[in-house]
Amino acid sequence: MREAIDILDARRRQVHTKGAQPFQLDCEKHSVAGSVSQRACVFCGSRVVLYPITDALHLVHGPIGCAAYTWDIRGAQSSGSQLHRMSFSTDLREKDVIYGGEKKCETALIELIGRYRPKAAFVYATCIVGLIGDDLEAVCRRVTAQTGVETIPVHSEGFAGSKKDGYTAACAALDRLVGSSESPPPDGPSINILGDFNIAGETWVIRDYYERMGVNVISTITGDGRVDDIRRAHHAQLNVVQCSGSMKGLARLMKQKYDIPFVHVSYFGLEDVSKALYDVAETFNDPAMMQRTKRLVRDEISAVMPRLRRYRDALQGKKAAVYTGGAFKAFSLVRSLRTLGVQTVIAGSQTGNPQDYQQLESLCDDGTVLLDDTNPLELAKFIDQTGADLLIGGVKERPIAYKLGVAFCDHNHERKRCLAGYEGMVNFANEVYSSVCSPVWSLSPRKQHASSVKRSIAPGPLVTADAGLPLNAKVPQCPTAATAPSPGSDSQACGVCQLKAHCSGLAAQETETA
Ligand code: SF4
Repeated sequence: MREAIDILDARRRQVHTKGAQPFQLDCEKHSVAGSVSQRACVFCGSRVVLYPITDALHLVHGPIGCAAYTWDIRGAQSSGSQLHRMSFSTDLREKDVIYGGEKKCETALIELIGRYRPKAAFVYATCIVGLIGDDLEAVCRRVTAQTGVETIPVHSEGFAGSKKDGYTAACAALDRLVGSSESPPPDGPSINILGDFNIAGETWVIRDYYERMGVNVISTITGDGRVDDIRRAHHAQLNVVQCSGSMKGLARLMKQKYDIPFVHVSYFGLEDVSKALYDVAETFNDPAMMQRTKRLVRDEISAVMPRLRRYRDALQGKKAAVYTGGAFKAFSLVRSLRTLGVQTVIAGSQTGNPQDYQQLESLCDDGTVLLDDTNPLELAKFIDQTGADLLIGGVKERPIAYKLGVAFCDHNHERKRCLAGYEGMVNFANEVYSSVCSPVWSLSPRKQHASSVKRSIAPGPLVTADAGLPLNAKVPQCPTAATAPSPGSDSQACGVCQLKAHCSGLAAQETETA
């Protein structure tokens, strides 16, 4: 069916099949006219990054439609203020478009600041504000002087680029806050966590790991973020950056201004979360901290491995398509799926750069289709051609999967389940298993069409309501649970995560299973 869909000529260089030709993939381009890009606008990019600052006021200066870009479906959690969940808009109308919206913006800010007393205020410029030329800088200066609450313009006119330019605008706005506190630095090693958005409490999980390692976390920018913490973020000795697109800009600015180095990490999947913790411990060059980190990694992996094996037994041989916002998350997903015995057959992102795609290509198997800034038709075509059993993406990809009769896993900001860290990997495995192995897909036209070809999806052992595991599943025992290896043993690499600093027993079990 999908063979009839061809790729637009202007998009051919943004699609690559590994092994078919030497690697060459165009990226960092404007979306092709006529192709319904999955990318969001500049305003959306800045909003995604800044909205998890929970005790700030967020005012969208524009028509109501921009504000209705549904913040509240997102899963970013707060341990305190819930102000960030309120969606304020100046609701610009025709009259404002003709006569200007500055007065309306200023009045709204003064009223909202008086009512909610936020720690700071962010004002987002949308497309129409860029067109009518409202001077947001001047409005914010006047409001700051009148209220005493720092009011910061975010230059995020939707038409001015893509989501990635929104990240840059957000970093520029944050840069105005960082370094504005007079408080003294904390004792001991300290970091900022950048680019984790506390979806379903993920920042809390990660923060706990670092604190168990003996590291102070000064600020979490921007998951469960606090304005006062961001003001003192310049005291940190290291910035730990997740989300390649969004926060690297701020990390670079802080390197230039305050000489704070940064490391680039991911907290998704056993390999990547372990590497993140080791990278931070190595930076501080403290043997005691390294010992604590090794123990933490070993204990956490020993706890989750038996549960992961049950999912891997059920998922072995399945195929997945991965489409993410930034490319860095795609690396983690390819590795995590491999841990579960699932092969990635399509991998792409909205905002990857040439280095990202080089790395993605090197991670994937021959025949994997790599896509930059794709669209629903292309995704449907390649899902059909590769026979993918699962699509992992965000809210915009969900209907594509369901229309095709393919399992779906939400790995974006809309989800309400923690997928980061070690326990998050078990949740991820459960989500993938529950969707891929649901008997419902055997009823889809796609599957019925292909019924002559024996597919590997098992139609349906009974599943438990909570864990989604087959009731009759055999539960292999992990030897490390009983025989803990010595801390820091690097005699054998773990068969799953390939890191050489923990759990030699797992390698033995992997060999036996194979
Ligand atoms: S593209 Fe422009 S009008 Fe549309 S949501 Fe973004 S800022 Fe608003």
